[in-house]
Amino acid sequence: MKKTIQGQAGAPVFDSLAKLGHRFRFIMEMRLYDTLTRETVPLFAADGKRLRMYACGPTVYGPAHIGNFRTFSLLDVLRRTTEVAGLNPLYVRNITDVDDKTIKGSAKDGSTLGEFTKKWTEKFHADCASLNLIVPDVEPRATEHIPEQVAIVEKLLANGNAYVGGDGSVYYRVASFCEYGKLSHFHPEELQTQDTNSAGKANAADEYERDQVADFALWKAQKDEDGAVHWPGPRHPETNLPIEGRPGWHLECSAMSIKYLGESFDLHAGGEDLCFPHHENEIAQSEAATGKPFSRHWMHCVHLLAEGKKMSKSLGNFYTLADLVAQGYDARAVKYLLISSSYRSQLNFTLANLKGAESALKKLDKGIEALLAKAGLSRADFDSPVFDRASADDALKTSFGPALEALFDDMNTAAALGAMWNVLRDEASGNKAALAALKTVLYALGIQPIPSKEDDAGADEAPEEVKALAQKRWEAKQAKDWAAADTLRKQVTELGWTILDRKDGWDLKKA
Ligand code: AMP
Ligand code: ZN
Repeated sequence: MKKTIQGQAGAPVFDSLAKLGHRFRFIMEMRLYDTLTRETVPLFAADGKRLRMYACGPTVYGPAHIGNFRTFSLLDVLRRTTEVAGLNPLYVRNITDVDDKTIKGSAKDGSTLGEFTKKWTEKFHADCASLNLIVPDVEPRATEHIPEQVAIVEKLLANGNAYVGGDGSVYYRVASFCEYGKLSHFHPEELQTQDTNSAGKANAADEYERDQVADFALWKAQKDEDGAVHWPGPRHPETNLPIEGRPGWHLECSAMSIKYLGESFDLHAGGEDLCFPHHENEIAQSEAATGKPFSRHWMHCVHLLAEGKKMSKSLGNFYTLADLVAQGYDARAVKYLLISSSYRSQLNFTLANLKGAESALKKLDKGIEALLAKAGLSRADFDSPVFDRASADDALKTSFGPALEALFDDMNTAAALGAMWNVLRDEASGNKAALAALKTVLYALGIQPIPSKEDDAGADEAPEEVKALAQKRWEAKQAKDWAAADTLRKQVTELGWTILDRKDGWDLKKA
């Protein structure tokens, strides 16, 4: 593992310079595959201070499914690992709170766009907390950055990269940007018409309001179905009057990443479906507006599958976190499963895999207990500052070093877990340094340390009354009396316990 230190001028320098004093901080070399160059290259902060990273966040029109959370969990591992590596991340993840789906959803709901998206944003935040995702440094919302978006469109109109189409909307002229396609490696001439909202959806219409089928909407002129959702937009080049309407989906990420990270920044990430057209369009509109390279490095997470197909709302093959928790699964196990394969590999979600993740976590907890016992420490010590997160440097020297190295090497979460299990299986020695290193590995993975004994109380410790209700519910389920089973579950919940369904019975956990 190569260790560098980064001086104030920003250039990586060699180890010996560490002797010069504390204004240098240690940085472990972390490599990551870059979709733009198709190479695995070191990650670094161009300003020598903070790794500026932007992730496309959720569209808040309903509960996010666990496919979305695979991407958000992996990006959380990225954010954590860059921190452990000493890259000092500045993490921005947006909220898409205006688009076709949010507008339609709020109209159906009979609420304003703001009320509707607030409800789903809160739900998203609650799920993120259950999955132990670190809150981003900035979480900007599209509706709160309309002037920034309008300014970009006006620049593009002035530069000749945009035009007003037949329907009064403003479109990006793809032919005006000769590097279009550099991220996805598509050639503009091969492109189907771009759906203005979701990735790559072909449009069978014969006539277009835009000059070229590949051109995409920057600013959508006001329509009746948008109701009250409209703002004064960019000035029309001929009338000089603002075009009333709303931003196209791609525009918000350019405006907000530039505002919080600068015109050029270090890393941009999202799920693989965003590579084209969303990220390609972000590059085109940002670079044409600023004249500078946009994000230097691009990272895309491969999708979570269900029954061999991409988990998605439109296919209906999705689970939400709430679905799984209601079935008695632990959010910690969901998180473990979602990150258990590398971000560059597919993962097929099954309930059997989730059960496997639950037993892995139980084994992990037992492994930690064994290490603590060997070190003569108690379980509570693992959470206490005694084991303050070790520096990556110290952790690398222990038996858990290979787990951390796997994360630094293209964020291979599967290899990191494998390396961690190798140590735990081989009955590692329980010294403080190894425990601190394990804590660092778990921190980077975002796997919560073992719950305290109290939280871990199982069926044995539940009151007789609760056990009797759980047994009755099990019998009601066997008799397919779902209404009775539901009522009994609620009674158990009200008494402060959660029923965990097992194949051949039930278990109980303190709620
Ligand atoms: P959305 O809320 O639809 O904008 O999606 C939020 C994030 O989830 C984006 O980064 C998507 O690429 C990602 N995503 C959507 N479906 C999946 C999936 N099945 N597996 C992993 N990530 C996904
Ligand atoms: Zn985006």
